[in-house]
Amino acid sequence: MWKRKRTLKEEYGTLGHFLRGDNDCHYLGDLYIEGTNFYRHREWRGVKDTLYDYTQWLNNLSSMVQMVASAPVSCLKGFWEYRWMGSYLGTFMFIDRLFEGYRGPELKIAHMHMYAIVQSLTKRIAYILSHDRRLGASEEKSSKLVPIDEVLPELFMTGFPDLYPVPLQTLPEFIICDIDQHIEPYYIDVAESFGLPADVCSRCAAETGVALDDAFPIVGKAVVTTNMPCNASEATSMFQRRRIGLPDFQITMAMIHNEPAALPFSRKIMEETIAFIEEHYDTKFNWKTFFKGAKRMNEQNQIELEKWDYFKTPYSPLVGIAETLYKLYEWQSVNGADPYYNKVDRKVIKIMRKAYKDKYEPFGGKTRHRAFLWGPSAVYYTDFPTWTQNCWGINIVLNMDSTMGHNMVNTEDPDIAMDDLTRLTEKACMRHMAVGGWDNVNSVWEWATNFNCDMVLMNDNIACKGMLGVHAMMEEQARDLGFHFIFIEHDLEDSRTVSRQDMRNCINQYMSVVMNEKPLDPTIVEFDDSAAY
Ligand code: SF4
Repeated sequence: MWKRKRTLKEEYGTLGHFLRGDNDCHYLGDLYIEGTNFYRHREWRGVKDTLYDYTQWLNNLSSMVQMVASAPVSCLKGFWEYRWMGSYLGTFMFIDRLFEGYRGPELKIAHMHMYAIVQSLTKRIAYILSHDRRLGASEEKSSKLVPIDEVLPELFMTGFPDLYPVPLQTLPEFIICDIDQHIEPYYIDVAESFGLPADVCSRCAAETGVALDDAFPIVGKAVVTTNMPCNASEATSMFQRRRIGLPDFQITMAMIHNEPAALPFSRKIMEETIAFIEEHYDTKFNWKTFFKGAKRMNEQNQIELEKWDYFKTPYSPLVGIAETLYKLYEWQSVNGADPYYNKVDRKVIKIMRKAYKDKYEPFGGKTRHRAFLWGPSAVYYTDFPTWTQNCWGINIVLNMDSTMGHNMVNTEDPDIAMDDLTRLTEKACMRHMAVGGWDNVNSVWEWATNFNCDMVLMNDNIACKGMLGVHAMMEEQARDLGFHFIFIEHDLEDSRTVSRQDMRNCINQYMSVVMNEKPLDPTIVEFDDSAAY
């Protein structure tokens, strides 16, 4: 039986603080069940915000129910066939963790963003499973689906309105590794049991394991793969191609994409990609629908650039994972294809404008440091930005995942539009930041300066061959430029090598030893969440 560790009086001080949920310290660690960061009861955020949070929980639940109701047999078969399907049940806990300590506008925006992802993903899962040949769908039924590598922004697919793009790795690997830290180690082990060396990047190893475990849904007539972001992914594409056994075309973009001379090469690849789809799916690229998609994409990017102006101030209620996970999904998987995201963007920017006008400071104004984060998947399953804010008052104002292609695409002239589309596509996730050339990596200082940050947190994937070489140089530059700089070691999708607490300790040590600061919430400095999703 759970017992309160401190009385309500000790925790809230006054009835007013209790009703508003704005107590000085949230003592979040008191809520955790041992070995996890599952709550014993839902977080109390004051009357208004607890009610709002609960309705949003119900909203997400209703999306899940709709998913199963729209394709009950396929979903059941999916749960039976694919190990990764079960991990989606952890979504609710994942969302609870992401928004710990959130109140008012930051909670509202965070839920709007997360619901946009949940409703889109659940529809996608149901649709893909009901067209999956492994689960009994006919070739004819699945012939309009086009599996494409998940790091490719999908804007080019809006030129094929009769086809349905399927970001191949998103369901069984990319999104799910954020929700459940225990799922990818299984697939990594599968890949290694086939002889893949253990020092390979765990994202690539996990994707390979999914392919070898026959855990990718099989849909469509031909696959679009890519060399992005790096040479490890190139090898992964090769393994997937062999296992899936469908004709494929690899979008091999120029590595140093900032170089103007590389554009014609990459543009030719883009044109060949479109020709490949036309040939294999017996269809024609439609510029009219593409321009419509590009207009939506441009609006998303315009709003994003306006958001950046607010990120530079202390008055942005959009922060941390609510910002970066949404942007990542919107850019990579939606990319002009779904008008719902434009609606969300318009609503969110209104809230942000108002918050700026009212000089509203999120998290009760307890932020002590502003940090630019250079971090991939491991920051999501650890809910890292939420924890840095709650524990040490480090506000992650922007993550590298939000800095991908934000160039506008011409919506009238096919010739100019093709150049713009190429520029946008080649800035795939991680390609731009990790292996797209030294200028891109080094721009971290410029980003941090422009967003008024005093700190840079850099994730150090111990198996990313692209980034290992720059370690010492980054340390040197941080010293010269006067930034507080923390490397956070991790093994991306393999939390067995570096645990979540090991990652948090990188911050704990710096904050206590170098900065000599005390935590805002001492109950979450150290806790064991090794058994949690
Ligand atoms: S983390 Fe590094 S090695 Fe892994 S996919 Fe990204 S760029 Fe490639």
